[in-house]
Amino acid sequence: MLLHKIDEVREKVREWKKQGLTVGLVPTMGALHKGHLSLIKKSVEKCDKTVISVFVNPIQFCPGEDYEKYPRTLDADTKLAEEAGVDIVFAPSAEEMYGKGGILSNDFLTYVIPPYFYTDKLCGKSRVGHFDGVCTVVNKLFNIVQPDYAFFGEKDRQQLIIIKKMVKDLNIPLTIISCPIVREDDGLAMSSRNKYLSEDQRKEALVLKNILFNIKSCYNSGIKDIKALTETAYEFLKPCHELEYLEFRDRDNLEAKTEADKNTVVFIAVKIGSVRLIDNVSLES
Ligand code: AMP
Repeated sequence: MLLHKIDEVREKVREWKKQGLTVGLVPTMGALHKGHLSLIKKSVEKCDKTVISVFVNPIQFCPGEDYEKYPRTLDADTKLAEEAGVDIVFAPSAEEMYGKGGILSNDFLTYVIPPYFYTDKLCGKSRVGHFDGVCTVVNKLFNIVQPDYAFFGEKDRQQLIIIKKMVKDLNIPLTIISCPIVREDDGLAMSSRNKYLSEDQRKEALVLKNILFNIKSCYNSGIKDIKALTETAYEFLKPCHELEYLEFRDRDNLEAKTEADKNTVVFIAVKIGSVRLIDNVSLES
């Protein structure tokens, strides 16, 4: 069932709750692929009812980013979601979520601001305000749907860590379930933004997983020194790859690591032409 209005979703969820059913929420920006579907599958398995949101959230895009051209494929998304067992596809307009004032000016919106320590690094460094927009919309979705479980992908691991922190700090009564990264057959992490890649850029995009998997295998062979591990990345980089960051950080609180260990996640962002891609790998196991 495709719903556009907050009140309609609330009414439906109220009925479910009266029957004692559990509710899972999968927040997305649409253009669904197998990565999203893995989250949906987990929710459908775990919960009696599953809601997905499809909302390209204007307040998490920075000026000059791809808000306007972000792929919007609601008909196909609704079909895929329903086939996967989703009960409600919630696709609000920006005005439904923020009202006219909220869209026109940040001054007319109450924001949820995660701690600066979590947002001043990795993606937050180049995407200033991005995680404020993410936490604000996710908090609103939590309040609208009131799910028992919410599902997020490790593909956006900084986001996942920040949302877990928000849920803990604000005592939001639900459980966050994290889901592993789903990759294409050749290892590229699935992303709606992969659609932007030309044929040549698609080949070059493998640089992210090549660097990460190589670091992981060097770590597994006994190298723990971060400088030495970072140096292994340079043999993969070509002039067409603009490395934004390659960092070793704690998997729970994003602190910088002095030496790689099993609690370390290696994060990478690379621009290929104008397409910015992110990926990460945990050094555990
Ligand atoms: P998005 O539509 O890009 O905002 O993503 C919605 C959710 O799907 C987020 O929790 C993402 O982390 C998750 N997701 C996106 N791509 C993948 C992937 N390749 N594997 C696992 N989860 C993903």
